[in-house]
Amino acid sequence: MKTILIVEDEEAIARVLGAYLRKAGFAVTRAADGPGALESFDASPPSLVLLDVMLPGLDGFELLETIRSKSSCPVIMLTARDGIKDRLAGLNGGADDYIAKPFVPEEVLARVNAVLRRPSQWTDGGRRRHFGSLFVDWEAHSVFLNGAEVSLSPRDLSVLLFLAERPNQICTREQLLEYVWEMDYEGSDRAVDLSIKRLRQALSHWPATEGEIRTLRGTGYQLWVN
Ligand code: CA
Repeated sequence: MKTILIVEDEEAIARVLGAYLRKAGFAVTRAADGPGALESFDASPPSLVLLDVMLPGLDGFELLETIRSKSSCPVIMLTARDGIKDRLAGLNGGADDYIAKPFVPEEVLARVNAVLRRPSQWTDGGRRRHFGSLFVDWEAHSVFLNGAEVSLSPRDLSVLLFLAERPNQICTREQLLEYVWEMDYEGSDRAVDLSIKRLRQALSHWPATEGEIRTLRGTGYQLWVN
């Protein structure tokens, strides 16, 4: 039986979620703060963690960092704030998904099942991943192709790291601008397009059968991987 660790200081939310997940066939453990969560995590490593961002003492992001430093266990962040910065901080910090509060238990269950079906993108003790001959190391902030480091400007590298963190997902220009350029760059979609163009050039020896950066007309970009 798969165990879900719920880290949530709001008793009512934790109780409802716990009951719902148990009904769906999961074993559930609960913690109301950071230290309790780590204790529970170490005592019996769960299959997945539902992690609230706003916790007393230690916040969810710090806890996520600690978990990620030693485990590839999937983590879904529960965030009350709906700012894109928070969600990106979570995903960038090693979360597998996020759910904005208020949520319905059905949504949580659907996300939990989806994340559990995915192969983990994290390696224990670090954040590195192979996409065929392309090797992305978030920890070291570098990208290698056939074993050779790809030389990129910090901004282009950030764009690639962002796309590589969510392979086969659509990333909008707005998301990239928010994350990489860290501000609302009204009318500077061109900056993103140029960065993508340079990245394609830098990755020109990456076989198209393994993956490529795709343009989704009118929507954004995607790191498609086979
Ligand atoms: Ca909370």
